[in-house]
Amino acid sequence: MSTYSDCFYCGGAVEEHNLPREVRWQGELFIFENVPLGVCTQCGEKFLKPRVAKSLDRALQGQQKPIRVLQVPVYQYEPDRM
Ligand SMILES: [Zn+2]
Repeated sequence: MSTYSDCFYCGGAVEEHNLPREVRWQGELFIFENVPLGVCTQCGEKFLKPRVAKSLDRALQGQQKPIRVLQVPVYQYEPDRM
């Protein structure tokens, strides 16, 4: 079932897991659930197959309705003034 090459960063084996994936597109944050991602068993780096990346792009371009919309609080980073 391994359709992934070894990890680009550490050479570890990469296994597929269905996980949430955050995507930034046109300055906004989108979340996909149950995305088949390759996950490195050593360093945890995640990899996206080109075919999967393409279907995420298609969904974002308006051909798919979101199942729900989340509100995400956004903070400005303030350094400690101690
Ligand atoms: Zn790795």
